Amino acid sequence: MKLVYINPETNLDLLAGSLWDGRGEDCRQQVVISIRQGRIAAVRPQETAVTEKNARQINLAGLTVLPGLIDAHVHLALDGIDFQASLARWQDPPAREAALARALRASLEHGLVAIRDGGDREGLNLQAREWVRTGKYPGPRVVATGMAVTKKGKYGSFLGPGTTDPASIRELIAGLVNRNVDQVKVVVSGLVTFRRYGEVGSLEFDAAELATAVKAAHAAGRPVMVHVNSAAGVDLALAAGVDSIEHGYFLTTAQLETMAARGTYWVPTVAAIANRLLTTKRDDYPEGERDIIRRTQESQQQMIARAYQLGVKLVVGTDAGAPGVYHGESYLDELLYWHRAGVPAVAILRAATVTAAAALGLGGELGQVKPGYRPCLIAVRGNPLEDLKVLAQPEMVFIDF
Ligand SMILES: [Zn+2]
Repeated sequence: MKLVYINPETNLDLLAGSLWDGRGEDCRQQVVISIRQGRIAAVRPQETAVTEKNARQINLAGLTVLPGLIDAHVHLALDGIDFQASLARWQDPPAREAALARALRASLEHGLVAIRDGGDREGLNLQAREWVRTGKYPGPRVVATGMAVTKKGKYGSFLGPGTTDPASIRELIAGLVNRNVDQVKVVVSGLVTFRRYGEVGSLEFDAAELATAVKAAHAAGRPVMVHVNSAAGVDLALAAGVDSIEHGYFLTTAQLETMAARGTYWVPTVAAIANRLLTTKRDDYPEGERDIIRRTQESQQQMIARAYQLGVKLVVGTDAGAPGVYHGESYLDELLYWHRAGVPAVAILRAATVTAAAALGLGGELGQVKPGYRPCLIAVRGNPLEDLKVLAQPEMVFIDF
């Protein structure tokens, strides 16, 4: 994989054998993507393009260029390998810095040009955002939530400091806005348990508390992403007017219809459940639990297919950092889970690019190959619309900074 950095002085013509622009149904052949002063200036058929002597050319014949991929749900502070070791590292600054740098690097090498971090108690994702911004470490653009808004004593003590009442919710969000978080993450329910099919950890907030959180975030111009499972939890979240449902295991068709009508994003994170059975720790789960994991995965895949049919704004997110979900590396797993659910590749790729960019608040600059957009692109061998697996190893990644 070759990484190409683009800066505001870069003038570059990419001679793409094939281009998928983030929106189209198909690829276009023999296209020149002109980058001028670090932005996409033109996208034209090769025969009409005029070569300029002050623009460098890169020949990408035989490759397909597409918008860089976006993971709308990660935790940079966790590595997906060992949860306890990740937490221990938070108290060891050099080790945690190295781990964050590795997570950023792995994300970029797998073609991710932007990621949204769902939070960690130390707010390390804010640090990572800064490192990418200043060029200290190469990585995708980080859309940071800092710490999650959780309820003290409930699930998620590693995600945020915990709140107790509306006043402390407002106080936490004000502090996060002060640190200039891009979005606010709220944990509305617990995790899916594997003891009994459909069982989910208890709700964290009542309607009034959740409304307080959403109002405070929106008043500060921050979209709200919520960790939520169970129909009751999703009802609560939708009533409060959240912007995106994360996970959303066991949501209902009626809720998907509401989300489609309102334009609420859904980030279903199949990998967060399914990948547990891909790790060496799979045998830690008794057969009964493994069965529940599989059934939970299948029901989520069915709902993704339904969401696609209903026109819900689906967005790809992996929950990288969760057990068995590795930064960058596991991204393709998520795409393939959706594909096996029956969602067409082109729709999956839109969920991974143009719709994901919008969910991250970057809709005007990322997710499409289009004049005025940032040239954060990948080049892969083969046609991803025919075979998503060609995304496993991008030949080139173009990133600006
Ligand atoms: Zn998460």
